Amino acid sequence: MNNRRTLVIRYDEIGLKGKNRRFFIDRLRQNIRFRLKGLDGVSINVPHGRILLECDEDQADELVRRLGFVPGIASLSVGVMMEPELELIAQKGIEWISPLLDSNPALKFCVRTKRSHKGFALTSSEVDHAVGGQIMQALSERGLCVNIGRPDFKLEIEIGMNHTVVFKDRVPGLRGLPVGSAGKVLGLLSGGIDSPVAMYRLLRRGCRVHGVFFDNKPYMGQGGYNKVLRLCGVLNRYQESMRLRVVPFEDIQVAIRDHCRPANRVVLYRRMMYRIAQAIADAEGYKALVTGESLGQVASQTLENLDAVSRVVDCSVFRPLIGMDKNEIITESKTIGTYDISIEAQPDCCSVFMPDRPATKAKIHELENDETRYPWQDLMQEALGKMEVLDPEPLDI
Ligand code: ATP
Ligand code: MG
Repeated sequence: MNNRRTLVIRYDEIGLKGKNRRFFIDRLRQNIRFRLKGLDGVSINVPHGRILLECDEDQADELVRRLGFVPGIASLSVGVMMEPELELIAQKGIEWISPLLDSNPALKFCVRTKRSHKGFALTSSEVDHAVGGQIMQALSERGLCVNIGRPDFKLEIEIGMNHTVVFKDRVPGLRGLPVGSAGKVLGLLSGGIDSPVAMYRLLRRGCRVHGVFFDNKPYMGQGGYNKVLRLCGVLNRYQESMRLRVVPFEDIQVAIRDHCRPANRVVLYRRMMYRIAQAIADAEGYKALVTGESLGQVASQTLENLDAVSRVVDCSVFRPLIGMDKNEIITESKTIGTYDISIEAQPDCCSVFMPDRPATKAKIHELENDETRYPWQDLMQEALGKMEVLDPEPLDI
């Protein structure tokens, strides 16, 4: 009795990458290998257009679960590797479909074959018909019928040069691109709902994402720091590791509060965050900054204020949530698993320092004038000097 299983892992976008394809696939393979930790005896093969994992039967469910956290996988299925003999394949189909007929006597099914072994004696549709016919012969009396457009059950067959796999149950993956296939970026991570979602979006496009948190412990306590660490833990379920930098921000906030126009405070804070983030990015090779800003969400995120913030840096700033509603962002944060941590009570980074009436259209010349009133360059260097660098562990997946 063969108790091995084969997982077929499909990627889609990688297929479009021309000459770089090999590089993307190798990256995906490495990321998958990383997820196999503690599961002994799982092997990986990369035949044309697929990644195949071989595992013991009792490891299959756990593998499917873990691979649900790997960007770059379009879908996967658990199957059985067998000889490309149609009768054996049909028998497997009968074995899988037969119990389903108990609860659904009018079950509709189809067979779908993909053939990368072009020398195989039959075409894909000939295999579909032959295998489907044998299954119908065995089970049509019990009510089974064929429906190619909307089947309840799809028996899939892949005939490769060296492997033929028969499988059921397509599980959708995260899609996107494998982490590490693009460069690394630096996310401005607050304890809120938006920024972890923004960072996840870049992660899913192949970036390795690290974070910077501007902390204000003397006024806000340890709460924000602890939250952000745990948010990193959740995001690390989707990549190997995230370096987190924690920059003490209290002296800068106090200086802005005490010396600048109250209405401009929030934009001035944000300009300092961007400047410091760019200094880190330049020093450490991050190719862009990522924020959770969304147009019009709060006063600091009007077109004018976003522009006033962008102007202090000359690197790329990505705002993947710019056109999203709060509800859409919340839905996504629930899906990725950051929501429950994000909504834990925490004094807002700026609430103690918030003006009564924040400017919705801060004027650049006023902001620049405000910035002559406190020694921001010195405070920025001091903050960078006191920065803490952490490597948070992933939370269990
Ligand atoms: P979030 O946007 O993460 O839900 P928030 O809504 O409290 O938090 P905003 O005031 O909307 O944050 O800030 C906009 C963006 O600026 C954040 O998404 C984040 O990228 C960045 N940011 C704000 N505060 C901080 C902070 N203390 N540390 C790091 N980044 C921050
Ligand atoms: Mg926000």
